[in-house]
Amino acid sequence: MRVLVVEDEKKVARFIKRGLEEAGYLVDVAADGEEGLYLAEIDDYDLIVLDLILPRKSGLDVCRELREQSIKVPVLILSARDSVEDKVAGLDMGADDYLAKPFAFSELLARVRALLRRGETMVPVKLQLDDLVMDTVTHSVTRAGKDIKLTSKEYALLEYFMMNPGKVLTRTMLSEHVWDYTFDTFSNVIDVYINYLRNKVDRDFERKLIHTVRGVGYVMKLQTAEEEAGEARPLRGRERVRDHGPRRRPGQPEVEATGSVAALAGEAMPEGEKPTGS
Ligand code: CA
Repeated sequence: MRVLVVEDEKKVARFIKRGLEEAGYLVDVAADGEEGLYLAEIDDYDLIVLDLILPRKSGLDVCRELREQSIKVPVLILSARDSVEDKVAGLDMGADDYLAKPFAFSELLARVRALLRRGETMVPVKLQLDDLVMDTVTHSVTRAGKDIKLTSKEYALLEYFMMNPGKVLTRTMLSEHVWDYTFDTFSNVIDVYINYLRNKVDRDFERKLIHTVRGVGYVMKLQTAEEEAGEARPLRGRERVRDHGPRRRPGQPEVEATGSVAALAGEAMPEGEKPTGS
């Protein structure tokens, strides 16, 4: 889940960013209205936290211009102005909710969750695939009833997979939703995190849920019996992979950051089959 915070007061912006990141969101900060509008136009955010009094362009103008462009991202207005008129003006401009400063972070978080639940990218309270269950309110994850402890980045990655079961997610998609917009898709950080996640979510379980789609990215799904049979050949016992570090050995070409899913459909290959050199 990606959140854009448009706030010119550095201290407040840092406070919100840190809190939301701890809650597992990916956060970008814009320090004025124009930058905020620009980022919201070029990027695909799940929610915008928008201050009203901003340099260069007011929060109300940002909100109005977004709606004029049919950008439907949920907007939570944040302002020291706690008057009914301002609240009405904000909602009239297409904002979805309003929070007066100062606020308790827990209230901001509750409103963020509520907006995400009713926004375009609805996050259900509970996400489930096979025996893997994710509670998006408590941020707890279990598989076959066993607790799985995830870091906030691993959690964000898993949530994005669980929101898109069966869909091949390219590295570009993963980086846009789980990392920030300055992220270098050609680095192997994504593979490293996928590995961490596999070690926690798949390694000790018979049915693997995270699969590599060679040349494209990754998909989370329950394999059909046929696909599983395909997975059983060579390299058995290799599923118990190293705990850390990328799987790509030196010299092995990196998976392309962007690629046509259609062109490579049917090439799904489990990680266990990849040649590993060490
Ligand atoms: Ca301000």
